Amino acid sequence: MKFLLVTDLDNTLVGDDAATLALNQRLQSERSQFCLVYATGRSYASTRELIAQKQLLLPDYLIAGVGSEIYQDDTLDLDWATHLSHNWDKLALASIAQQFSQLELQSPLEQNPWKMSFFLEETPTVAAEIIGDLQQKISAAGLAAQIVFSSNLDLDILPQTSNKGNALTYLQKRLQIHPEATLVCGDSGNDISMFEQDARGVIVANALSELLEWYRQCGSQNHYFASSKCAGGIMEGMQYFWGW
Ligand SMILES: [Mg+2]
Repeated sequence: MKFLLVTDLDNTLVGDDAATLALNQRLQSERSQFCLVYATGRSYASTRELIAQKQLLLPDYLIAGVGSEIYQDDTLDLDWATHLSHNWDKLALASIAQQFSQLELQSPLEQNPWKMSFFLEETPTVAAEIIGDLQQKISAAGLAAQIVFSSNLDLDILPQTSNKGNALTYLQKRLQIHPEATLVCGDSGNDISMFEQDARGVIVANALSELLEWYRQCGSQNHYFASSKCAGGIMEGMQYFWGW
């Protein structure tokens, strides 16, 4: 049986250099046993920089921009892109977002045809109100989109079917890998959609409150809350679910 390992990067695979190195060595020795997928909020370019900087293994697939793009090697997956383009009116959504002065557009490098990224720096209560208003305006305009708020800072507007979770399920089906052989790993809000899929999941010890809150309410025996942070938590999860 082939395994599918899908991991977030920042503060999951990366964040504790010694643990990342130890995990990389472990994975390298089993490299033919599994398909490696990185699922990140980062853009393709920014991910490539991080891979070089931290000397990460090259993944088989990259889910970039919180699920808005999938790459196999350096090639954009056009089937996924076509899937996301249904009911996606980026221009109309941009004009609604412009009405919110609290939303600060992130760098052009973080934008792509299926993702608009902003910073929203407010207290959690105020941020929740703003997100509610934004969602309401989008619905009232008859548009379809989802809003993903992560790390109390990053706000992404994405096609309704775009998130890390749907992207990983798309790959899982295409590769015909069983849910029990699929392990997802993450630490923050944009990882929740992965934990909602038919897969095993590791929540690393340094997970943010938004993910811990989800785990308290929705966690099941498919989810393992690690006692080690970052890559050390991934290693614990592989041991717990797969006996690695
Ligand atoms: Mg993260």
